[in-house]
Amino acid sequence: MLKTNAFDASTGDTLSAAKRDMIERRRRLLGPAYQLFYQDPLHLVRGEGVWVFDADGNRYLDVYNNVPSVGHCHPHVLEALTRQASELNTHTRYLHDNVLDFAEKLIGTMPEALSQVMFTCTGSEANDLALRIAEDYTGGTGVIVTDYSYHGMTKSIAALSASMGPYVKLDRDARAIPAPIHDPANPAAVGKRFAADVRAAVADMRRHGIRPAALLIDTFFTSDGGFFDPPGFLQEAVAAIREAGGLYIADEVQPGYGRSGEHMWGFERHALVPDLVTLGKPMGNGHPMAATVVKPHILERFGSESSYFNTFGGNTVSAAVGLAVLEVIEQENLLPSIQRAGKAIVEGISALVPRYPVLANVRGAGLYASVEIIDSKGKPDAAMALAIVNGLRDEGILIGAIGPHANILKIRPPLVFQATHSRMLVEGLEKALTKLMSHA
Ligand code: PMP
Repeated sequence: MLKTNAFDASTGDTLSAAKRDMIERRRRLLGPAYQLFYQDPLHLVRGEGVWVFDADGNRYLDVYNNVPSVGHCHPHVLEALTRQASELNTHTRYLHDNVLDFAEKLIGTMPEALSQVMFTCTGSEANDLALRIAEDYTGGTGVIVTDYSYHGMTKSIAALSASMGPYVKLDRDARAIPAPIHDPANPAAVGKRFAADVRAAVADMRRHGIRPAALLIDTFFTSDGGFFDPPGFLQEAVAAIREAGGLYIADEVQPGYGRSGEHMWGFERHALVPDLVTLGKPMGNGHPMAATVVKPHILERFGSESSYFNTFGGNTVSAAVGLAVLEVIEQENLLPSIQRAGKAIVEGISALVPRYPVLANVRGAGLYASVEIIDSKGKPDAAMALAIVNGLRDEGILIGAIGPHANILKIRPPLVFQATHSRMLVEGLEKALTKLMSHA
């Protein structure tokens, strides 16, 4: 993956001695693969709702993290976690109500056909399991992904995560197709083009003797840069993979849990019922948990022939936490406020476009928004995107950047973000842009 907004040790000599020591200790103990955000990395010590606090007591508006979905340290989730952790934590080989209550509630949010769930600890594992099931059901091995996809870290899934870059080899039977286009002037073309790319990938697999197993896509195309419109544009592509004998796996790690504000699941935006759905990040509000949801007839042979056990997946405490997160979404009626806050972000930033021509193609769905940063020739401007991310940090606001050219602002706050926070973000962005333009 491109090292977007990553700390660069060669320019870290302006940092405090304490920070430099900590960075050196990380490098010594954790090795070279880990990255830190920001040129002046943040040392966070506390979180509350949509806020995080650093070791010096500075407060930051969290517009980046979707893992603390219902807000950092939500009391209802904490209570469920501590209560169950004080009583019993064990695995799914013993009878316990928690995993059943959680499974029932989770499945209750899905279309009826998706009625069985298997628990894992990470989104990577959930995708890995979905893939094993899809290969078993179809007898195929060919998987179609987008060309800046990210689906996780296991050996098989890293090989389907084209955004990992050329050092991580794409699976030989996989085909990476272009991400959808953003074309509000010609919405009908979006789905047609994407479906044509799926068909071309299937044809290429066939030419190489590869049987298609699945179309695996993040419903919001998060790492590709965020593509949401028009609703329904995925239908033709999904029909194409099914026609070819493959399954549709919806990776809902990013769009799931109500992020769009319209629906609980991203695939509902496209009026689709996937064959398998994978979940992760927001499920446990920071507690590591994930899942694969599946239509029973697809799981039938795999489930009977190969037993499944995941030591921590679906454990008693995780199940209590997962249930508590769903309860918060329901009790706090988050979907309408997600819509309101998301609309305020897109409208607020769109209103800045005429004055700040570096901003382009502002788009979003609920509390996920993308803003392309371009230069005077209309080309992707990664350096300016990075300057904006750092400028916002100086205003006490955390966001990210994404996409194959690292020039797309990634705006993806916790789901308890309110319209007042959206306005803070827009004001902060305006201040950061004004400062950047006066230095230009
Ligand atoms: N799928 C998507 C779309 C993701 O964004 C991620 C994590 N960024 C994953 C899968 C993998 O999840 P995890 O890090 O929990 O393995």
